[in-house]
Amino acid sequence: MVKAVVGANWGDEGKGKITDMLAKEADIIVRFQGGANAGHTIVNDYGKFALHTLPSGVFYGHTTSIIGNGVALNIPVLFREIQSIVERGVPKPKILVSDRAQMVMSYHIRFDEYEEERLAGKSFGSTKSGIAPFYSDKYAKVGFQVSELFDEELLAEKVVRICDQKNVLLKHLYHKPPIQPEELLEELHAYRDMVVPYVCDTSAYLYEAIKAGKNILLEGQLGSLKDPDHGIYPMVTSSSTLAAYGAIGAGIPPYEIRKVITVCKAYSSAVGAGAFVSELFGDEAEELRRRGGDGGEYGATTGRPRRVGWFDCVASRYGCRIQGTTDVAFTVLDVLGYLDEIPVCVGYEIDGEITTEFPTTAKLEKAKPVLETLPGWKCDIRGIRNYQELPENCRRYIEFVEERLGFPITMVSNGPGREDIIYR
Ligand code: GDP
Repeated sequence: MVKAVVGANWGDEGKGKITDMLAKEADIIVRFQGGANAGHTIVNDYGKFALHTLPSGVFYGHTTSIIGNGVALNIPVLFREIQSIVERGVPKPKILVSDRAQMVMSYHIRFDEYEEERLAGKSFGSTKSGIAPFYSDKYAKVGFQVSELFDEELLAEKVVRICDQKNVLLKHLYHKPPIQPEELLEELHAYRDMVVPYVCDTSAYLYEAIKAGKNILLEGQLGSLKDPDHGIYPMVTSSSTLAAYGAIGAGIPPYEIRKVITVCKAYSSAVGAGAFVSELFGDEAEELRRRGGDGGEYGATTGRPRRVGWFDCVASRYGCRIQGTTDVAFTVLDVLGYLDEIPVCVGYEIDGEITTEFPTTAKLEKAKPVLETLPGWKCDIRGIRNYQELPENCRRYIEFVEERLGFPITMVSNGPGREDIIYR
């Protein structure tokens, strides 16, 4: 059985925690898209970890972690991450890297930085991990695939070709030093030596695993609204964040994905630029940011303060629909316990008209939130394990949101730990 764990919003919904929790029952966990540009924060018996490349299941001895072909593979980051968890006492995880995954090269990171510099005030707020240049190259068919590391003849020719192309941009667009084919070849050799023990035809491996009835989790990065097709283009990421892409990025049949667990956060948060209709500012924002997540709303990779806002039913309903949600995991609900009243965005007003459909970007920029206010529950709900034991106003909030989403909330997360979960 294959399940996908994906985000309904702008990322940081708590997918890492939900995956880590579900990984207990899983045999294999697969990353299928994205790169080291976002992170998951996981709190478990070994401590608190920020993972950027490794799937969230690496903490269990019984699971195999797969870096799928759809991932932007940053080999040095992967290796640092493996080392850092092993150093902290986690048993060495079993990791397989797709031979069809492509690699983030050091020049992708530099191009990302140079482009942000060039765009200055008009930048996209990139994390400068090289993700956009990486995926541009992949689709322009000038990327390096892991399998190519083992073909010296191909590499010798390709490094020259790539340098020729990159150096035009480096020289004339960015006015930066060129890259030399020898340096590039050296980098590729270093990557080959690091990755060789892990390389695998992961699609074939997963095919056999599915036939053998294994439990497989696909772990998404970011959320629906950062999808390049269905999100807030151009303020999106460069690979699809949708469960449907899990089939491609892992190399499995689409019909094998039987459950889509969409993680949806009880209030809104986002990093980077882009329209954010229910955004809060000033003291209200500062308080939610400070109390949010586990130790405040600051990016796991970048440490950047996240933008925060009230729960957005319009964006979340759309986010759940576009994922093909079967189950919603509603997270970080405990954080809202300090509020007397909790406003919720139930519609958008655009040019004097009210809609509950999530619009394209130009219209979204004009949208004003239509808020409805629910009573708060004014207490700490951490530690509660039974839905009926939640305060009445808390259940009201959940049920109000569920009705607006149109998808069943089957899990409620009321704390960062593995055990902080209420099944309904
Ligand atoms: P991801 O990228 O979707 O995995 O999300 P992040 O890890 O970036 O952000 C989620 C943050 O919220 C992390 O710091 C988690 O430890 C924390 N978290 C997850 N679920 C809960 C929850 O139910 N309550 C609280 N207070 N924190 C949570």
